[in-house]
Amino acid sequence: MVIDTHCHLDCPEFDPDRAAVLVRTRAAGVAQLVIPAIHRAGWPGLLALCATDADLHPALGLHPVYLDQHRDADLPALERAIADQRPPAIGEIGLDYFVRELDRDRQQALFEAQLAIARSADLPVLLHVRKAHEQVLAALKRCPVRGGIAHAFSGGIAEARRYLDLGFALGFGGMLTFERSTKLRALAAALPPDAIVLETDAPDLTVAAHRGERNSPEYLPDVLAALAQVRGSRRTGWPPRPRPMPGPCSDSRRRRPISQESTHD
Ligand SMILES: [Zn+2]
Repeated sequence: MVIDTHCHLDCPEFDPDRAAVLVRTRAAGVAQLVIPAIHRAGWPGLLALCATDADLHPALGLHPVYLDQHRDADLPALERAIADQRPPAIGEIGLDYFVRELDRDRQQALFEAQLAIARSADLPVLLHVRKAHEQVLAALKRCPVRGGIAHAFSGGIAEARRYLDLGFALGFGGMLTFERSTKLRALAAALPPDAIVLETDAPDLTVAAHRGERNSPEYLPDVLAALAQVRGSRRTGWPPRPRPMPGPCSDSRRRRPISQESTHD
């Protein structure tokens, strides 16, 4: 089963043909979609969409890029919505230092408040991080949450390992399908397989074969194919080496604990 872990199917870009997109997405083998929120005004539509289909999963949150649309009252509203709706995740939340006009102090306050909500609700978070890995990792250290996904990951291997150590997976999408994404492709080849999740971020960030068009969750197999291509060309630790079955407890002192055989080495 293939899951699109980050897809904005509720966006107006899909208003004309959302049902047809979903039919083609399922036909392409993409069985489940996680749909992260952008702002409070979008939550009712997002929840209504997900209520129509058991394969669509909402995340609720306040996206850092839409800072000027968020109000102080949105945070208690988020807490109430989380308690009422019990979505599987909080998102998308984070810090965006790429867009220079976004007030960094306000972003930080909004992000940390949402981390605290995720922590008390015991929910994973879907992270949006651009040019702010140090700040996001520091915030996660201060307010640990139950892991989640660093969406559209574009950092280096050292940053990747720090997210993995905090219980996060890394989201790879359409950028992986472009041959010129050499750094990203090398990273996708080097990471342990369970560190990677697939996403489209539709309608944004489309795949090479549909350059210039609206992105769609039906193109997720292109991302999977690119991942297989970059990982197939070198030894990556996948498939994993078979591990010996644990023996009886009495001889456990002679055996190396499984936890030391981490694939994150
Ligand atoms: Zn997104």
